[in-house]
Formats: sequence, structure tokens, C-alpha cells
Amino acid sequence: MGSSHPLSRTFEEESLGWLQEYLRINTVNPPGDVRPAVAWLQRRLTEEGIPTTVYASDSQGGKVNLVARWPSRYPEEPTVLLLNHLDVVPVEREQWTVDPFAGLIHHGYLYGRGALDMKGMAMAEMSALILLKRLNIPLTRDVLILFAADEEVGSALGAQWMVTHHRDVLRPWVVLNEGGEGSIGLWTDDRRPVYAVQVGEKQVCWMQWTAEGPSGHASLPLPDNASERLMYALVAGLQWVRQRVPAPDPVWACLHQRLGTPKSTPFTDALQRDTVSLTALQSGVGTPPKINVIPGRATAMVDGRLLPTTDRETFLQGLRSCVQSFGVTIEVLQTSPVTPTSPLDHPAWQAIEESILAQVPEARVVPMISAGATDSRFFRAHGIPCYGIMPMVLSEELLATVHSHDERLPVEEFHRSVRILLDILKRLAGHP
Ligand SMILES: [Zn+2]
Repeated sequence: MGSSHPLSRTFEEESLGWLQEYLRINTVNPPGDVRPAVAWLQRRLTEEGIPTTVYASDSQGGKVNLVARWPSRYPEEPTVLLLNHLDVVPVEREQWTVDPFAGLIHHGYLYGRGALDMKGMAMAEMSALILLKRLNIPLTRDVLILFAADEEVGSALGAQWMVTHHRDVLRPWVVLNEGGEGSIGLWTDDRRPVYAVQVGEKQVCWMQWTAEGPSGHASLPLPDNASERLMYALVAGLQWVRQRVPAPDPVWACLHQRLGTPKSTPFTDALQRDTVSLTALQSGVGTPPKINVIPGRATAMVDGRLLPTTDRETFLQGLRSCVQSFGVTIEVLQTSPVTPTSPLDHPAWQAIEESILAQVPEARVVPMISAGATDSRFFRAHGIPCYGIMPMVLSEELLATVHSHDERLPVEEFHRSVRILLDILKRLAGHP
């Protein structure tokens, strides 16, 4: 039972032990069977006296979601929802220097698949909730944790399913999730930590570009060669996207105001503009393709990521008129709905900033739009403010271990993230 003094070294040892145990439960997706993890979480929370409920979206496949609730005396008030996902991506075992499912600590780092994405944050959330209870902090609204399944394969049986079927259980006033983190050297060249809080996400615009034309013997060049026209169209279209000036955006205005102009890297560039990546080219006749045959058709796959402020139809119109003269058509394969960016004048934004600065006075807290998607999009689609921040300072080298080998987190940053999350919860749900 919870006998150790809250926020003491003993509690830190205890919570770190939970994270080690949690990392030892393999939740690789696919297959994404998270039942053993949920059973372990339930045991842990029940021992602590915190009620939990399981929501099975596909119990045969092991897709289950868990909600833990620490109630206030105001059950009608909308809640603070801490969100995380149970599943992790697969490992290439031979590329790891340690066992990815052993929860090993080495030189101050805790190793394991999911340490950063996102079992570390999940255990920081759970530790903060347990501290709320152990410290008997009176609440003005319930605090919930949703441990969601299925995030790494699109969330159809995880957060999306929970939002569709059980929004009445969650009823969030605000959601805290992954999506941003602290770092040094990623945004600026100085050594001051920058905590980037994700307040919105880019939209997906996946396209197939196609050129069609006559085929023939390659010894007689054809002016209408589909492959060549596709190539010219790609050069023109990709350049057009790269030269577009992004529309003024309040998120970037705020970031600039707090940080100055961030240093230009592929990472920071991708966050402030619409981007396209050419990912697949296909043409040729036969397998393997014949070098002396001009094919009648050539296609390209282009992965477009647009800022939330970009109007997709206007973007496509511009792109199409740019490739029209090459006789290339652009078909949209998949898009994601545009979700509203969460406000910067919300009490949660202020609570996050104040809690981080209380622990790390030299830090700067900035908002950002993330290039990739998180489960926050399902809540934002319903107008619920979501803030993505794993409050740990991570180097570029550590961030690169997400979805890669030797994923690990600094143990001291884990402990600090618990203190920051507890502080955020006190400010958002504690009695003044
Ligand atoms: Zn994640």
C-alpha cells in the first residue's frame, strides 16, 4: 500500500518501479493485445483505492481501454482528462543494445520500448493521480486517466472508439496528452530548455499524381512521354509548395514572441508551413521494367501535410494549376479532418506554463502545431481543448529513439514530469 511519503525519494523509487514493471509488459501493436497491461494497471490502481472501468472495443483481439477516475465532490463538472496510449510500435531486437522489454536502468536512463512513446508519460500521469489521492487534495472536478488501445495503428478501437461511444463517461473540460515535449538545442542554439506544447495538428492530404500518354519503342523519343511529363510536373509542383509563404498564424506569432526566430531545421521548417514528400514513383512496362519501352502511364505518391489554417481546396487548386500544363492529374487519396487549434488563453495553457516555470524557472514555454497526428484530434473534433506536453527535457538524440532503437528516458526527467503534472492538476482541479 501507499505508505511512502508523497514526493519523497521513496515515492520516486516507487513510481519508477511502476514504470519499469509497465515497460516489461509487451504491448507491441500489431497485434496490440493490451489485456495484460490493463490487468496490471487495474491491480495497481485498485490497491491504491482508485476506481477503474474497462471498456472493451474488441475483447477477442485484446483491444481494451481503461479509465481511472479520482472523483471530486462535483461529479457534474466537466473533467480533467489525462490521456495516454497503451500500445507501442514493434522493435528490431537485434538493433537494441539492451532487452527492450526488461525495464533496465543504465547510467541514469531507463530503457524500453514505450519509455518515451508513451508509457513514461502514462506512469507520470498515474503517479500524479495517485499523489492527488495520497495527499488528500480536495478537487473541484474529477480527474480521469484514459489508457487507450490501438493508437499506433490509427486508434479506431482506442481513443476514437472511446470518443464515439463513451464521451458521456469522459466529459472532458480539457485533455492533456502527448504531442510536445521539452528540449534543449532543438529550437534555439542556447542551452535554455524549451517546452513546446502541442495545441494543434497538421492535416493529412495524401495524393496520387498520374500522367498518361502513348507508349512505344524507346529508340524513338515521344514528346508526350508520361514518365517525363510526370517528372517535370513533380519538379514544378514540389517547388511551388516549397516557395509558398505560410499564412500568418497566431501559434507561430506567439512562438516567435517568446523565442525569437527559431533556428531553421527540417523539424522547425516542417512545423510552420505546408509540406509535401514524394514517397513513391511508379512506371515502366513489365517486371522488372523494360528499359527500351516507353510506358503509357506513370504515377507518384505524394504525402502532403497542411497547416490547420490552410484551406485544402485552395491548396489543391494551386497545385493542379501548376501541373496542368504537363497533363498530370492529381487525385486525393486520403485526408484528415481539420481540427480546431486549442486556445492560448485557456486556463490549462496558463496552468501548464506556470507549473513548468515553477520547476524549471529558466525554461521557455511555447505553443506549436505538430507535424504528426495524436489521439487529441478526436477530442479537438468535438471542440474540446487539448494540450500535448510530455514535460521532460529531451535531447535530439533521445527524441530520435522514439519508434527506433534503444528508446530511453532520463530517470530524473521522469521524476520531474510527475511533479509538473501534479502541479498542473492542482491548478486545474484543486480547490483554490
Ligand atoms: Zn504516442
